[in-house]
Amino acid sequence: MTENLIGESRRPGRIEVVCGSMFSGKTEELIRRLRRARFAKQHVAIFKPTMDVRYSPSDVVSHDHTALRSIPVHQSDEILKLSGGCDVVGIDEAQFFDNHIVAVCNKLAYQGVRVIIAGLDMDFLGNPFGPMPALMAVADEVTKVHAICVKCGSLAYASHRLVNDKEQVMLGEKQEYEPLCRECFQKALLNDKRNAQSRSLFEK
Ligand SMILES: [Zn+2]
Repeated sequence: MTENLIGESRRPGRIEVVCGSMFSGKTEELIRRLRRARFAKQHVAIFKPTMDVRYSPSDVVSHDHTALRSIPVHQSDEILKLSGGCDVVGIDEAQFFDNHIVAVCNKLAYQGVRVIIAGLDMDFLGNPFGPMPALMAVADEVTKVHAICVKCGSLAYASHRLVNDKEQVMLGEKQEYEPLCRECFQKALLNDKRNAQSRSLFEK
């Protein structure tokens, strides 16, 4: 990790983004940073979009079930209202928030809050996901974490969807996605395209 956190307790506000594909450990990294802040007696709050109800409606839960209690919010504006008195604000699954999340994070940082954001950098087609590119742009620090490609063992680049669904907003379960490196991801997308074409021929 490249965090430079000397004198953490007296630092001015800042924005940290932890992003990567599915199974890259970004939520675990968010939890690690938040836990450490909490050990340092800092006031910590964690938010996530209400739509992420994968395992528990009120916990940030990572895939290995290390949970921290979080506050589900419908809109990014609610984070401002609910984070009064916080030293550190964590935001999980940030890709699902509206674009206003960028202004919210900036405002918090200017107020002296350390904002730690975790989210998917790309969707299942390899396109930048929701507000993540803008959040990465305004961040003081960006950490890309990586899963391992299930095909070849290289560092993974993107999350390939295994089920046939065009909807961008589909929540991640292990059986629905696989982390792939850039090369294997490209091959998989081509393969999906071919399969879709043959399916549509078959349906005609
Ligand atoms: Zn690969």
